[in-house]
This record gives sequence, structure tokens and C-alpha cells, in this order.
Amino acid sequence: MSTSTPVRVRFAPSPTGKLHVGGARTAIYNWAFARANGGAFILRIDDTDPTRSTDENEQIILRAMRWLGLDWDEGPGVGGPCGPYKQTERIAIYREAAQKLMDEGKAYACFCTPEQLEADREAAKARKDSFQGYQGRCRDLDPAEAQRRIDAGEPYVIRIKVPRDRGDVVVEDAVHGEVTFNAKELDDFVIVRSDGTPTYNFTTVVDDALMGITHVIRGDDHLSNTPRQVIVYEALGYPVPEFAHISMILGPDGKKLSKRHGATSVEEYRDAGYDSEAFVNYLALLGWALDGETTIVPREVLAREFSLDHVSKNPSTFDPKKLDWVNQQYLQAMTDEEFAERVLAPQLLAAGLEDRGCFEARPEWFCTLASVLKPRTTLAPDVVGLARFLYEGPAPQIDEKAMKKALLKEDDASQWLCAARAALNDLEHFDASSIDDALTRVQEETGANKRKFYGAVRAAETGSLVSPPLGVSIELLGRAYALARIDNALEKVADARA
Ligand code: GLU
Repeated sequence: MSTSTPVRVRFAPSPTGKLHVGGARTAIYNWAFARANGGAFILRIDDTDPTRSTDENEQIILRAMRWLGLDWDEGPGVGGPCGPYKQTERIAIYREAAQKLMDEGKAYACFCTPEQLEADREAAKARKDSFQGYQGRCRDLDPAEAQRRIDAGEPYVIRIKVPRDRGDVVVEDAVHGEVTFNAKELDDFVIVRSDGTPTYNFTTVVDDALMGITHVIRGDDHLSNTPRQVIVYEALGYPVPEFAHISMILGPDGKKLSKRHGATSVEEYRDAGYDSEAFVNYLALLGWALDGETTIVPREVLAREFSLDHVSKNPSTFDPKKLDWVNQQYLQAMTDEEFAERVLAPQLLAAGLEDRGCFEARPEWFCTLASVLKPRTTLAPDVVGLARFLYEGPAPQIDEKAMKKALLKEDDASQWLCAARAALNDLEHFDASSIDDALTRVQEETGANKRKFYGAVRAAETGSLVSPPLGVSIELLGRAYALARIDNALEKVADARA
């Protein structure tokens, strides 16, 4: 293929289920390859399996593609010059292509019944023939005779006529190198079933050829289909594209990634709160490397630098811990403002802690909260648990452990709290560093044990023994709540002691 041919690649999911991690990676590689080469990325829906394909799955796949940010240049919702982009809407095209091959003598009608085929296979086995595929019984039927049987309503399939002198099929795969398929193993395979539906190996090639696909990048479970597809290209008279078959993704136990290993669909990762860019980054590096050491490869870099020669032929292992780590890196890299807008606002809204418009109303408060929570967040929803204490009003519950250990066990706790309250009340600027200074002063003046003193204040202000740093937590609560919460704690201690 000349290098001047503009790159055209496609991702062709079957809507028989959700978009899985493996499919998403295939989509990412196709997208990145198109972008890196200034080519076109085509999305095609391979929905010719009517029993398993559903519109709902198709919508789920499209949604997942959008969430991943894999924009397509041609396909559903976008259109394009080679449409339609759904196989069920292309049936007439396959029919015409099959008819053309019949007319040219490159395909033929086969009337063998399943029983006949089985008997031929058994006979081949009995004579220890190494070839046990279709024996070519109808290959040389007189076309006029075949037509007569078709017209008479006899059921038939259409088989491709693999040229006898074709020889081995050698596939130059960009990932696997040269792969040779023995000619002896290629029988005249079916391209149209007896119910008139075309087979995968036929529709794929007709579409890839008519859509001008230059590179077929897909999972290596399709490598074994490739020689048959090459035969179809040759019969149709179209150039054979480049192939790149990417290796499987394995679970931590070395077996093919599946439900047993946990979440496998893109949707589940979206719902768990992963950042879509981090997710794309992580999947892209499962089997592709920028340079062997860089682990953070933002989308723009992927879209510029992706190349097939850095795709590994070894299977890669899906490591949820590494994915979490990458996700964390993306969150850390956000500015406080971005974190507030993209993580805090939607999460707190979804959890019912905030109202719509919350971010616009108090941007500075949200940025401060972002600076506190960002380093403590692995997944976006983590912020809900971390921030919840801020939303519990002036008189929150104090959890049992905090009550017992930090407040009741210390005889002086109430006295420390009173002193802290006075200091907070007197502060001119109610910001984290002034609050920290004031608390340090009170702790020193009261002669309280440092750990116990902060434990008591923390219990009063946050209702718990663990929280983000105290000064900034109190700043975020604001003076009115900070004072009210101390009163609340004092009251609870008095009640408990009464
Ligand atoms: N619909 C096929 C699949 O989902 C596409 C295979 C191919 O890319 O040729 O496996």
C-alpha cells in the first residue's frame, strides 16, 4: 500500500453486549492511529447477528465511546460518504457483492445438506485425509443446473471458490510479523447462509473494502479469520489492507480478562468514578508503550505519538491497582479549580450534599476544599465521604469512638474546648493558618497533651477521630459552625456525664 494513501481505520463492535475493556482498547488504538496519521476513524456497527444484537447495547456502546472521548469521523450520528454504517442496513450491498462473485464464477451455490456434509467429513476422517473441511462437492456444478435448482426453491448456501493454485496465505501483521496459513486448511467457506444472511468474514471484507479501510486493527482472536478474509479481498478484486492483531488482556491470574475478575465494561468504570482520560491512558498502555518508561500519556500525546510498531505481541495484564494509581495522577494534575468543577461539584451534587450552582456560588470555598481533598482522592466519589462532615450542620452527631476516646476519657477535654472556642471567637481572620496558630497557642497555654488536645477539638468539629487537617477543616466550616460545634460537643459531654 502506498504511503500516500490516507489512513482509514475502523472500530466495528457487535452490539451483543456492553463495550468491554478489550474492545475499548481496540477502539483507542484505532482512534489514536487515525489521529496520529491525520487519517479517518470510522465507527461501524456490526449488528448482523439479530439474535444477540440490540439497540440498547448499541446506545450503550456509543455512550461509552463518547465518554472515552473517541470521536469518530464517519459512523452513527455523523454519517459519511461510505454509509450506511450499520451492517443490517447494508444487506443489499452484501447480496450484490455475492451475486457478482457468482456471476464471475468466483463463488457458487452449494446444495449439500448438513447430513451430506457430515457424511463427507466422516469419510475424510476414515481415509485419514488431513483435510476435513468442505470437500467441494458442488464446486464444479454446471451453473445452469445450479440456477435451475435455485429457481426450483432448493435450499443452498453460497461458497467462495478458493483458487486451487492459491497456495499458502501469508499475512504481514504489524504486530505478529509474517504469519503463514497453510493453503490446505482453506476450504470453500460459506459467505451467504441458506437463510440469505451473509457471514462475518464476508460482510467485514465487503465493508472494509468499500469503506476504503487501509489498516485493520483488532483483537488477535480474529487472526485466524484473516486468511479467509484475504481470499475474499482477492475475489472481490480489492487491495488487502494492513493488519494489526492486538494481544489479549489478561486478568491478574493470567487468564483472559472476564467477569470473574470484576468490572469488565467501560460503563462500570465510568460509574465507579474513574476519570475518562486516566482510563484511556491506562488502557492505551496495556500493550503499547511510548518509550518503555513513561506511564502518563495524555490523550493529545497518544493522538500524536501512537504507532503500531510499539504495540506488543505479548498479552498484557489488567492491574486495577495500577489503574487507580494512574487515576490518582490525573486528579493530582488538575488545578484546584478544575478539581472543584470536575470532581467536587458533580460528586457532591450527586450525593445530595450540594445544590446545583453550588460551585458558582462559592468558588473560593470550593477551591480550598479541592486543595484539601485532592491529595486524598483516588476515585472521584471518595470526596463524598471526605467532605461529608462539612454538611452536618451546627450540631452534628459525634461518633461513639470519638465521643469516648477523645472527649469522655479526658477530664480536661471540656476545659480545652472552652479555651479553643474563645480563641476561635476572637480571631480576626478566620483562615487555616490563623486557626492553626490559635490552636497551638491554646494547647500550650492549657498545658494539654498535644495529641489529646487535637483529638478533642477534632471530635467536636468533625464528629470523628479522622479528618482532613484540622485548621483548614475548621476554616471550611466557618466561624459560626465552628463555635456551634464546640457548644454541641460541650453539651453532649455534659449530658453524658450527668
Ligand atoms: N464485529 C467484530 C467483533 O466485534 C469485528 C471484528 C473485526 O474487527 O473485524 O469482534
